[in-house]
Amino acid sequence: IPSEFVEYYKELPSRYKIVAQIGEGAFSKVFKAEDTACNGYIAIKVIDKKGMKTSQIDSALKEVAIMRRLRHRNIVKLYGYQNSQKSRFCFLLLEYVAGGEIFNQIIKYTYFSENLARHVIRQVAHAVKYLHDNGVVHRDIKPENLLFVPVKMIHRSEKEQVLARRKSDDNKKIDEGLFIKGYGSAGIGVVKLADFGLSTVLASDDMRAKTPCGTVGYTSPEQHLNLGYTKKVDLWAIGCVLYTLVVGFPPFYSNSGNSKEISIIVARGEYKFLSPWFDEVSQECKNLISNLLTVDPEKRYSIDDLLRDPWVTKGYEDEVVSS
Ligand code: ADP
Ligand code: MG
Repeated sequence: IPSEFVEYYKELPSRYKIVAQIGEGAFSKVFKAEDTACNGYIAIKVIDKKGMKTSQIDSALKEVAIMRRLRHRNIVKLYGYQNSQKSRFCFLLLEYVAGGEIFNQIIKYTYFSENLARHVIRQVAHAVKYLHDNGVVHRDIKPENLLFVPVKMIHRSEKEQVLARRKSDDNKKIDEGLFIKGYGSAGIGVVKLADFGLSTVLASDDMRAKTPCGTVGYTSPEQHLNLGYTKKVDLWAIGCVLYTLVVGFPPFYSNSGNSKEISIIVARGEYKFLSPWFDEVSQECKNLISNLLTVDPEKRYSIDDLLRDPWVTKGYEDEVVSS
C-alpha cells in the first residue's frame, strides 16, 4: 500500500483498492478505486475533516444529502457514503466516469464542432431539467464539472460506423473520431454532471438564495451584484459553457486573471462574439448564447426554453420530449 493512502485504508472498507488520484479540491481529493466485490471501478471523493470548520463540514454533507436523492443518466451517481463523528475522513462513493473532464477535451481539440457542442449541451440540459424540476440548483456548472463516458465503451456496430462516416458533416473541425447522433465524436459519449459541492435547494422558481458562490467567469450578473438569485444562474453558466465549447475560450475573462475585473464585466454582461473565432459559428448558436447570457434573469431562458430552442433541437426533432 502506498504510504500516502495508509490513512485512508484505516477507515475505508477493505473491498476498495485505490488505484490513482484523479482530482483535487480545497478540502477533497478524488481517487479511482477498484471495487473488488464486483470487479469494477468507482470514484471515491475523500473529504478531510481535519482543519475544517463545522460549517464547512456541514456544507460538505449537504453535497451528500442532495446527491443521494438524485437518479439520472446525465448525473454522476452517488452509490454510498461513509462518515462518522470519530473519523477524520468522509468518503463519497461515486460512479466512476472514465473519460474525465470535458474541460480536457476542449484543450485537446481547441474547440468543438457545433454538432459535438450540441451533443454535450443537450445532455447537460437534460440533467439540469431534472435538477430544476426537483428543486435543486447546481451553481457550479463548468467544463471541469462535466464528465464523460468514452465512446469506445459504448457498443457501436461496424455498420453504424460506416454509415456515420458517410453522413458525417462534422469532419471539418474535428478529424479524430466521427460524430454519430447519440454517440458523439472525439470520444465523447454520455455526459454526466458532477460536483454538487455548491448545489442547494430552491424549491420554487422565484425562490432566492444569497450565498456568494460559484466559479468566477461562470457566475451570473445577479450573483456578482449580490442581488439574490434563482435557478436561472445555471442557465447563465450553460451559456458560458456553450460559448466556451464552440470557440475554446470563455466569454468573460481578464488577461490579468483579476477576479474583480471579471466581476465588473460580468455584472454588465459585456461579452462579444469575437472575430475571427465566431465567423463560422451559426446564427442559431449565437442567438442561443444571447438568450442564455441575458443579464436580466427574468428575460433569460429557463431550462424549458433551452430544451425547446431551435439550435438545441436541430437534428433531434424526432425525439420524444417528456416533461
Ligand atoms: P471539487 O469540489 O474539488 O471540485 P469534484 O467533485 O469536482 O471536486 O472533483 C474534482 C475532479 O475529480 C473533477 O473535476 C474530475 O476531474 C474528478 N472526478 C470527480 N468525480 C469523478 C467521477 N465520479 N469519475 C471520474 N472523475 C471524477
Ligand atoms: Mg469540481
